Amino acid sequence: MRLLFTALAYLISFHSYSQAIEENIDSLIARMTIEEKVGQMTQINLGFVSSSIDQHDGNEKELDWEKINIAINEFHVGSIFNTNGFALELFEWHEIINNIQSVALKSINSIPILYGIDAIHGATYIKESCLFPHNICLAASRSRNIVHETAKVTALETRASGIRWNFDPVLDIGREPLWPRFSETYGESAFICGTLGSEVVKVYEGDNLSKYGVASCLKHFIGHSVPKSGKNRTEAFISDLEMWEYHIPPFQYGINAGASSVMLNSSSVNGIPIHASYKYINDLLIEQMNFSGLIITDWEDIIRLHTRHKVASTPREAVKIAINSGVDMSMVPNDFSFCKHLVDLVNKGEISESRLDISVKKILLLKRKLGLFVNPFIETDKISDFGKPEYRKLAREAAESSIILLENEGVLPLNKQTKLYIVGPTSSSKAALNGGWSYSWQGNIEDIYPKNSLTLSEALKLEFGSTNVSIHCEGDFDDKGHYNVDFNKVDEEVIILCLGENAYAESPGGINSLHLPDEQINLANQAIESGKKIVVILIEGRGRIVSSFIDKVDAVILAMVPGSEGGPAISNILSGDVNPSGILPFTYHRESGNIISYDHRFLSKINHQVNQPLAYDAFQPQWEFGHGLSYSDFEVSITDIISEQFEKNDTLIINYQITNKSEFDGHKAIDIFVSDLYASNISPRNKVLVNFERVSVPSNTKVKREIILTRNNLKYVNSKGEYIFEPGEFIIDISGSKKNISLK
Ligand code: BGC
Repeated sequence: MRLLFTALAYLISFHSYSQAIEENIDSLIARMTIEEKVGQMTQINLGFVSSSIDQHDGNEKELDWEKINIAINEFHVGSIFNTNGFALELFEWHEIINNIQSVALKSINSIPILYGIDAIHGATYIKESCLFPHNICLAASRSRNIVHETAKVTALETRASGIRWNFDPVLDIGREPLWPRFSETYGESAFICGTLGSEVVKVYEGDNLSKYGVASCLKHFIGHSVPKSGKNRTEAFISDLEMWEYHIPPFQYGINAGASSVMLNSSSVNGIPIHASYKYINDLLIEQMNFSGLIITDWEDIIRLHTRHKVASTPREAVKIAINSGVDMSMVPNDFSFCKHLVDLVNKGEISESRLDISVKKILLLKRKLGLFVNPFIETDKISDFGKPEYRKLAREAAESSIILLENEGVLPLNKQTKLYIVGPTSSSKAALNGGWSYSWQGNIEDIYPKNSLTLSEALKLEFGSTNVSIHCEGDFDDKGHYNVDFNKVDEEVIILCLGENAYAESPGGINSLHLPDEQINLANQAIESGKKIVVILIEGRGRIVSSFIDKVDAVILAMVPGSEGGPAISNILSGDVNPSGILPFTYHRESGNIISYDHRFLSKINHQVNQPLAYDAFQPQWEFGHGLSYSDFEVSITDIISEQFEKNDTLIINYQITNKSEFDGHKAIDIFVSDLYASNISPRNKVLVNFERVSVPSNTKVKREIILTRNNLKYVNSKGEYIFEPGEFIIDISGSKKNISLK
């Protein structure tokens, strides 16, 4: 009884507390002028209020306090974001945030600034922060726990800088390998994207944002990741069915997990720019998906409704369309045109002031939720959360858990006395290991990386001894073929051939072909001709096609973009100090003309080529989704499926076991797929991932596991977003062990 009473009292006091917040904000809004409201809806770039707007010229910038004054006091700007060039020291962020907030508190309504940043795979823009593997790698680990821990450190280090809003996680699905942001995704499965993305949201937002964590921002709503041309920020054509199968679910997971904000897709879907779409923003995101948080544009995307999409004949018209579609905040980012046009539109009655109030309220509530009204300055007790030594251990563990051993013809692991010959463009580059969003937007400023973060060559020297390692590509990423290697003179027993990509982010990472560049293929072929043992290390943000030579090498390791501890992690796997355990979160394609995903329908599999017989089994990727080897010898088998309760309470209990028949302790990443053999209206997909887990299996032991599936796991979705269960025959597939089951 007493407990009930206390709970009730708590509920009443909590209710009156949130009521008070709402009322204060309403009365604050009632006092604000149109200009002040519009200002709250405006977000400008730090570069815009600095000595030079050119963020990528590599030069240091000074903040221009006169410009900041104008922004906050004349235009009432409510939000600032980004860095003005590259990563800054922690103390520099403290000065910036404290000074900006002082200006804001002295302004007319004393409303603090909401500062936003891209803290992608770690606190990108703080020097010496800990950079983790990119999302595509974390997905390969199939570990919710690693995602949880890395997100926690990202939030702690970001908040230690004074910034409380992170434009993360990316919930775009990775199904177009040409797209240069592929490595920012969790890969090809909507389930993995949604599960890991929502884990990040829960960690970022915790249970008391006013004291801990950062507001998350799901991006880029919606359909950003599958541009028809493969080029970033270009049009996509997506059927309603694909929307529901692949694109909507990850965002729905993120919304259900409590995300505070959503960033829109810069591009168009089926010819409709998302920033101009009432249908996508209001009807889908707000109404159907039940999102009540803040909706922000991406970079300059209102202006681009006029300059690129051509749906607005003037910049003013562009503002009108975007606001009427449901945008709350404009990432302008480099002028005050948005403010001027929106004020004018309201003054002329083309947009109502009450429309502004809806957005301003969401913005102020988020500021409130983040504790900014209580203390917008640096929280001194948070500073010591930055740069803890254990973060590096976590970065190492995350990299080691996500690196994938794709092929091994018995050459790995290597004895630590083995003489190694290291060559290739990614061998001596920190940038390649860390990828984009690493201390700079493109991540390619080699000198800015911390001294204690090693290149792969440096790490190999430590692991195998400098006398055993000979390095033939010193310095930055070099893809011009400047290797001068005479492979006939190589004395070492094993060639470590380090291929892949340099760092890139967003549009500058566009490519015209998925194949590895010719220089690298030539290098590989020369190495192969030497007759030596060859281990290929692929450091790349997407699966570049390697089919012309890869069958002729002895082992292949896919490290993708493993972050600051990637070098030691790869070395430990090569030496056997660490047993590889990552598995592919995407289909690694063999040919650019046969891009078929793991969950294709039967009809995708036809391959009819000139002068060749018709083939119905054309799903022949280089490596399948879920593929990944280990030094352990694992056997996975479903022992039984208990379906008696299915009709009554929807549960299907699956018992399976993993046997490790080797001397190596290991982790087995497990995928659980369901195949619906026949469906009545929509052709069923080959198989669909419905769950995953990462299981530790010591040497020579057997681990028994139970997985519970529900009716929802066996449903298919139609183009209206309706989930349908049809009785019939299904196949349950646990990492290759399959059993048929008939369900009513
Ligand atoms: C990207 C966003 C990012 C924003 C702010 C844009 O170019 O598309 O993902 O959050 O810039 O830096």
